[in-house]
Amino acid sequence: MKDYYGREITYLRISVTDRCNLRCVYCMPEEGIVKQPHCDILSLEEIAEIAREAVGLGIRKIRITGGEPLVRKGVLSLCRELASLPGLSELALTTNGTLLAPMAKELKAAGVGRVNISLDTLNPDKYRKITRLGTLGDALSGIRAAMEAGLTPLKINTVLIGGFNDDEIPDLVALTQRYPIELRFIELMPIGHASPFGAEAYLPCGTVLERVPQLQPLEKSGVAELYQLPGGLGSVGLIRPISHLFCGECNRIRLTSDGYLKPCLFSTEEIPLRGLHGEALRERLETAIAHKPAQHGVLTAAEHAGSARDMNQIGG
Ligand code: SAM
Ligand code: SF4
Repeated sequence: MKDYYGREITYLRISVTDRCNLRCVYCMPEEGIVKQPHCDILSLEEIAEIAREAVGLGIRKIRITGGEPLVRKGVLSLCRELASLPGLSELALTTNGTLLAPMAKELKAAGVGRVNISLDTLNPDKYRKITRLGTLGDALSGIRAAMEAGLTPLKINTVLIGGFNDDEIPDLVALTQRYPIELRFIELMPIGHASPFGAEAYLPCGTVLERVPQLQPLEKSGVAELYQLPGGLGSVGLIRPISHLFCGECNRIRLTSDGYLKPCLFSTEEIPLRGLHGEALRERLETAIAHKPAQHGVLTAAEHAGSARDMNQIGG
């Protein structure tokens, strides 16, 4: 269905848990989160019910995210159920990849088409530093397993952080020469708990083009501007929520793990869906979609965005 501004809303991102096995410095506090009791988190049945109504209203793509979606018990059966919804054309999942290797084939069999895997560095020490708990080898095993299981085309999400990984831009881009992956640089967003980075950390994605001038532009794909190395098997995506507003093309809504619909990632507006069923649920969803804000305010490194939540609760 369309919102008041004529945007066709076709994409639902579902955070199935706010928990995570890592503690990335831009996403979660070091001590972890105050765990929401299980009863505050949507059950798998509630998630499936909301998804079913949303697909009835024109959602065509669902992405499972988190927190880390692979720590949620029953995620495979949820995927199976969502994949079988008539009218859904794409089921995808975003993960840090560290728990993916033993699950990749099962996820594929459950109906997940492809995965996005987050990877901010190719250096094991830096990987541990940015994730606080993670091991680079586990994430790389997840990437390998995803390719072997056919969870493709594989996208790698890299948050660009000035002074942390901008020196690795050429090496990260070089991966797309050899592998048929889309490596997406995402601008660091000043949201939720994001650790107090200095202004130099908020690098615009245009830096990638300055550091690797041989990148050639391709057509746009969703929110990503695409580029390619000459003769490269893969591509490089730039996602610029800070330096370029793409609200006019935004087709997505988000469901938080505790049952709120967020029509805009950067807004405090949240619509409670819990306890609603059938007609009432459908009407609430319709109203929420119709009232999706025209655009969010300008985001700057100095100011926190409107959302009071951390990314692990919203799903990125
Ligand atoms: N745990 C999974 C993962 O890391 O891929 C899924 C959830 S995570 C919240 C989704 C995406 O949000 C990840 O690619 C992560 O890098 C990104 N993210 C989290 N906090 C961010 C921030 N402050 N700025 C930019 N991206 C962020
Ligand atoms: Fe966990 Fe993903 Fe947040 Fe990192 S970005 S702490 S992996 S939810």
